[in-house]
Amino acid sequence: MGDLAVENNVSPTLYVVVPCYNEEEVLPETSKRLWQKIRSLIRGGRISTKSRVLFANDGSSDRTWETICELHDNPEYEGVFTGISLSHNRGHQNVLYAGLMAALERGCDVSVSMDADLQDDIDAMDGMLDAYERGANIVYGVRDNRDTDTLFKRGTASAFYSMMRALGTETVPNSADYRLMDVQALEALSRYGEANLFLRGIVPSLGFTTAEVYYRRGERFAGESKYPLKKMVGFAVDGITSFSVTPLRIVTFAGLAFLIISVIMLIYALVSLVIGVAVSGWTSLLVSIWFVGGALMTSLGIVGEYVGKIYIESKHRPRYIVAEELS
Ligand code: UDP
Ligand code: MG
Repeated sequence: MGDLAVENNVSPTLYVVVPCYNEEEVLPETSKRLWQKIRSLIRGGRISTKSRVLFANDGSSDRTWETICELHDNPEYEGVFTGISLSHNRGHQNVLYAGLMAALERGCDVSVSMDADLQDDIDAMDGMLDAYERGANIVYGVRDNRDTDTLFKRGTASAFYSMMRALGTETVPNSADYRLMDVQALEALSRYGEANLFLRGIVPSLGFTTAEVYYRRGERFAGESKYPLKKMVGFAVDGITSFSVTPLRIVTFAGLAFLIISVIMLIYALVSLVIGVAVSGWTSLLVSIWFVGGALMTSLGIVGEYVGKIYIESKHRPRYIVAEELS
């Protein structure tokens, strides 16, 4: 292990888990920065020499996996880089879970998950380790502001988190998936069997001692966001329907409200008939047909979301398949 081989058995073994989907443009810089970080943490005696950076390749179609293999084989990095590769693109949450489980299997004491694009400030890791040493099992990286996001992303994100809160799901606002989890928290996480993974909701529900570390989130270092609008909407719908049945209840109440409205309408129609006011407009009729149709379709859609969830869960499919693994 060259100059890293300073023996220290008391320090925890850290695994930095980095999901990567088509990240060939950022990996050279990300790996350089992570290497420096890991090396300085090892030298400072804060983490053991068995600590690793585990890249979890999410079925990328570019040279991401080749790059990871090269980093793994490069003697300059003294075996710090390792990786797993999924057989197919399974999405950020699933690949992150796969990476965390691989870290757990390999005997880490503590894991830190972060994005590949260097948006998360690597130096916040020190603060996370401080909190871990003070006894926290889970440490959330919380962004101190959202300056670097587009207005659209900021607006939709805050609407999403308020909605989650209103629906009774615990999340840590302005924290994404940059967080530290120790072995106890990872073991608890490994017991969650659901196929619809929403880590930002599941992790807070694990309990344990938690802490928060604030950091400034930068711009994506290179390449474009791997989270286009379609994936963002899917993520939000999954997040809500995986944790809350409140939308179903809202549908029931809305149905009741419409029932009451229709009774009032019926009385109105009967009264108009008796006092002889001609009901002439087809406009009102047309409007109500569309309105009721729309309300019904929305309701059915919401019910359908849950039925779909049950369908997917009932198949007990594996969440991901690891195709290749580096030592
Ligand atoms: N990612 C992934 N699979 C996907 C989409 C994204 O593993 O299907 C990874 C991506 O490589 C990055 C992280 O998830 O490390 C966050 O993605 P991105 O930075 O594109 O999202 P944004 O910051 O724009 O929300
Ligand atoms: Mg990003």
